[in-house]
Amino acid sequence: MPLLPRRRSAATTVGHVRIGADAPIVVQSMTNTDTADIDGTVAQVLALARAGSELVRITVNEKEAAAAVPHIREALDRADCHVPLIGDFHFNGHRLLKDEPACAAALAKLRINPGNVGRGAKRDTQFAEMIEIACRYEKPVRIGVNWGSLDQDLVTRMMDENAQLAQPLEVMDIVREATVVSALASAARAQALGLAHDRIILSAKVSGVQDLIVIYRSLASRCDYPLHLGLTEAGMGSKGIVASAAAMAVLLQEGIGDTIRISLTPEPGGDRTREVLVAQELLQTMGLRAFTPMVTSCPGCGRTTSTYFQELAERIQRHLRERMPTWRATHEGVETMTVAVMGCVVNGPGESKHASIGISLPGTGERPVAPVYEDGEKTVTLKGDRIAEDFQELVEAYVVRRFRARAL
Ligand code: SF4
Repeated sequence: MPLLPRRRSAATTVGHVRIGADAPIVVQSMTNTDTADIDGTVAQVLALARAGSELVRITVNEKEAAAAVPHIREALDRADCHVPLIGDFHFNGHRLLKDEPACAAALAKLRINPGNVGRGAKRDTQFAEMIEIACRYEKPVRIGVNWGSLDQDLVTRMMDENAQLAQPLEVMDIVREATVVSALASAARAQALGLAHDRIILSAKVSGVQDLIVIYRSLASRCDYPLHLGLTEAGMGSKGIVASAAAMAVLLQEGIGDTIRISLTPEPGGDRTREVLVAQELLQTMGLRAFTPMVTSCPGCGRTTSTYFQELAERIQRHLRERMPTWRATHEGVETMTVAVMGCVVNGPGESKHASIGISLPGTGERPVAPVYEDGEKTVTLKGDRIAEDFQELVEAYVVRRFRARAL
């Protein structure tokens, strides 16, 4: 199925990053450090930004965290990292923002969860206080509904109304609709309180793939706010990646989604930047953006009985990522390069011809030579003990020859 045209949305800016309308789909991430730990949070934001996160969200959950935010911003600026910071607020956000005005000033966007701004009569007042601060500091707001913390008064009211119908809807349909209504009604209220239409981004995160698709299709058809896409509580490892990609790919294919986050549960001690790489790979493999040269490699089979082929594919992938910060600055368009690393000559030459540059390693029982193709033509056959090093040098030479040098 071809990509459908991007949904027409309003555009907003978060710091220097434009979101919505015809802007590229923005990759964002979130720290898992204690925000009050300034050094730890700065280090993680730097790592996320260097991995390619274009916005980074941090938790602002207590006074110490709010007080740390301006210091985190200053330290990042000193390190020449200007990635916009988003503050994630819940129950006490109104008070933290009021007590720590430097926090509001240092943030590029506020995330408000309408289900968590306060209970009962306090909800409206505290929501209004946060919007008033966003207006005063000219900050955009993400109204971020999460069905794990859905406004229970709203759900109860909608359930009661549904029960009166001649043909009541299923409970799950009401919950999905309540998620959408909570986001839309909160956005309308924020506008009534003075927040400009083009300073609002919406999200309505759920943990089920089919639920996310239904909810975002509904949101997309009922408003033109830019949409932040993400499956919440996606899970660990491959399950989290597969679930996020399955849900978001369907929506992105339909032109829905202006900024994305992949919410992975990291393994203990795992690398937080993985969620950034997965988000980039999702957008790049769908042909929506290009971030880094992509490696095409076959899965291997009985014809690849040594680990040499996997090692070369891994080595080339790592080399491309390591070289990318330099290449990005020196060679225009290098992120669109494709590199094929194939395990034998069955599909190797064919796949190599489709790549910018590709190599087919000798499979079991084949002659110990590795033909290399560049732009569809066979250019050289590598042999001997230095195939990996020689191929890496060929990739370097290809970049210099093929991609225009940027004026530095
Ligand atoms: S290209 Fe060769 S090694 Fe790779 S999966 Fe196909 S047959 Fe196996």
